[in-house]
Parts: sequence; C-alpha cells; structure tokens
Amino acid sequence: MLDFTTVFVFSTGICVFVCLVTGLAWLFDETGAETRNWFIASVLQVSGTFLMISGDFIPLQIGGYIGGIVSTAASGYLALGYRQLYGEDARPTAALVVAFLTGTAVYATKLLSGGHQDGIWLLYLGGSINLIVAARVTCRGSRREKLRFGRIAAFTLVVYAATYVAIAPLAYFYPVQFVDGKPVTIWLEVTTIPLVLLNMAAYLMTLVVKLERATERQRHLARHDGLTGALNRTAFYDAWSRRAGHGGVLAVLDIDHFKSVNDTFGHHAGDTALGVFCRAVTDALPKGAVFGRLGGEEFAILLTDCGPEEVRRLLDDLRTVVSATSIAARDGRRFSITFSGGYVGFDAGESDMDRIFAAADRALYTAKNTGRDRIVAFDAGLLLRQDARQLRTNAALGTGVAHASA
Ligand code: GH3
Ligand code: MG
Ligand code: MG
Repeated sequence: MLDFTTVFVFSTGICVFVCLVTGLAWLFDETGAETRNWFIASVLQVSGTFLMISGDFIPLQIGGYIGGIVSTAASGYLALGYRQLYGEDARPTAALVVAFLTGTAVYATKLLSGGHQDGIWLLYLGGSINLIVAARVTCRGSRREKLRFGRIAAFTLVVYAATYVAIAPLAYFYPVQFVDGKPVTIWLEVTTIPLVLLNMAAYLMTLVVKLERATERQRHLARHDGLTGALNRTAFYDAWSRRAGHGGVLAVLDIDHFKSVNDTFGHHAGDTALGVFCRAVTDALPKGAVFGRLGGEEFAILLTDCGPEEVRRLLDDLRTVVSATSIAARDGRRFSITFSGGYVGFDAGESDMDRIFAAADRALYTAKNTGRDRIVAFDAGLLLRQDARQLRTNAALGTGVAHASA
C-alpha cells in the first residue's frame, strides 16, 4: 500500500524540479509575462505540496487545507499564463479568485457542519475549475495557431482537468479521515501520483509550446516580408520552383510614383500604403495563388489555376479597389495610390523562370510608359515591333547599338 508521506515527498520532489525548470525558462525569456506566471504557479505548487508534508511543524488538518488552497491558486496561475500566451484577456486577480472562493467554501463547510464535513472535495472542485479554464484556453489557442505541440498541450490539460474533476466526487463520497494526524483514505495516495505526473507534463508543455512557437515565428520571418506579410523574394522563387512544370500566369506589379508618396506624405505613410496594397491583393487573390514582394514597391503574383483572361479581370478589379482605397497619413491627410502591372502566360514545362520574369517585366515597362495605372499583357509581337523601332532610331542616330532585349 502506498504510504502518504512517501507519495507526498515524491510529489514535492517533482514539483521542485518543475519549479527549477520554469524558473530557468523565466530567467531566459525576455518577452513573456506568461513564463513569470508559470514560475509563480510552480512556486505555489511546491509550497502547496510542502504544506501537506510538513506535519512536524503544521498539523495536516491545517497545512493540508492551506496547501490545497495554495495548489488551487497554482492552477489559476497556470491558466493565467496560458491566457497570456494566447493573447487572451488576462487579469492577474482572476488567477486568485477561484482559490479565494474555494478557501471560503471549505471554511464555511467546516463551520456549518460542525467539523463533520471535511470540504476536501471542494479543493478538487476549485482546482478543476482553474484547470478547465486552462484547458479551454489551450484548446481555443491551439485551434487558432495550429501548432502540433499546442494541440498536445491542450490534450494534456484536458486530461489533467478531467482527472481533477473525477477525483472531486471520490473526495465527497469517501471523505478523508484523520488518524493520529495522518489521512486515511482509499483514494488520496493512488490519485496523487497521476496528478503529479500530469502536473509535470502540463508545465513541461508550456515550455515546449513556447519553443515550437518561437521556431515557427523564425521560420515565418525567414520566408515573409516583415512589413507586408507577403512572401519574400527567395520564398516566392522557392514556391515557384516547387510548381515547376505547371503552366500558369506570372504578373509583376509596381506601385506608381511611390517615391512621391514618400516625399509628400512621409515614409511612414508609404509603409502604410504598402500594407494596404498587400491586404487588397491578398483579399483579391484566389486560393493557391502565390504572392511575393520582390523588393521595394514591386510585387509578383503566380497563378497556376487561372488563364490570362481571368488574371486580367482579376488585376483590373484589383486596380479599381486599390485606387478607391483612401489611406491616412499620420498627420491626418488622406491619399490613394495606383499601380501598374504586366503579366505573361506560360505553358506547362516552361521552366526558364528568368525568361518568364523578363517577359512580365517587359509588359510592366510598357504599362509604365503608356500612362501607368493599367495592366498590360506581354505581347511578343509588340516587343519585336518596339525593338525594330529602337533599331531604326539607333541607326538614324548612328549609334548602331540595339536596345537590350528581354
Ligand atoms: P514608378 O511609377 O516609375 O514606379 O515610380 P516610383 O516612384 O514608384 O519608382 P521609384 O523606383 O523611383 O521609387 C520607388 C520608391 O519606393 C523609392 C523608395 O524610397 C520607395 N520604397 C521602397 N521600399 C520602401 C519601403 O519599404 N517603404 C517605403 N515607405 N518606401 C519604400
Ligand atoms: Mg513604382
Ligand atoms: Mg519599382
């Protein structure tokens, strides 16, 4: 049979280990308020279990109850940390409310029953409430973020909360008897071991989720432009090469007279305009389209599921939306932007990305030279005519230098 003191000394040992790990995590985490609260939670957890085994100094009938209330506060802080991690409304007082109410309910129960009702089941109920909150927050958060370990953390907390919930009726129907200051029950020692292990798992998951999140952020930053959220140039090319062999349409877009936006309204307004532009593009694009920022105010779109005509309609609609969007500068002045675009369709099997880009660029160049705020399709015939005209001009000027062709 498991001995009460052994089980609780084992629990305290594990809680001290968890406390050290969360303490180190807090020490090395420059950003997270959540690691501080998880550390507070683990300190409370150690204190709670320590109070339960310090029978030589504090009688268990008192230390056990205070320990239970402190452990309830610990699960409140665990839930608070998860609220902060997932950006939910997190008031520090909320971490203590359930513990306070639980303590009051335990005291009132003892008082009203003339000491016959032990109220320990209320401690499990209080812990359950905090853990259910933590489980709900992690389930919601992991559904939003879709992180693998986020889901495992949510599952761990659901199991942890469910175990607590299951023990509350046991504690109610089989109250703890105290013999010589030691608790005598059929369930306390047996249920404490899985609870301690689940508690350890819940804390370790906090760190794993943070680590996974940080890794995911780094990966995102390496592939996306920080200002607009669009793919960066490298990621755009990568996405394209993964689709090598598919035919499709490549469009290159460039915001018109963007330099004068910066000059007139300030660089910050220029940044805002880039963000507005990218949101409009993302909203307009069909699923599966690849959108990237090539640099500055120049962007590219790869569409493998649309034909050139469909792309033209899409880009013309986008042009209307962008030019009708009013953008606010910091000083309250409002302005709008336009953009020009060039696009080219290419066949499946065409793998020379440079050639395709050069063709779309050429169409963009024509759009810029013919008044801006327009979409132009690449036209090989037009290109030949333009080059021939250039050759004639050069010959007339006597330079003999041909215009660089795409
Ligand atoms: P055009 O119609 O011929 O494209 O003229 P333009 O002024 O848009 O083109 P130009 O290449 O002369 O100027 C591009 C400007 O874009 C210059 C640069 O300061 C600005 N720019 C590039 N990247 C950023 C950025 O991240 N933020 C802001 N605010 N401006 C940027
Ligand atoms: Mg421009
Ligand atoms: Mg440009």
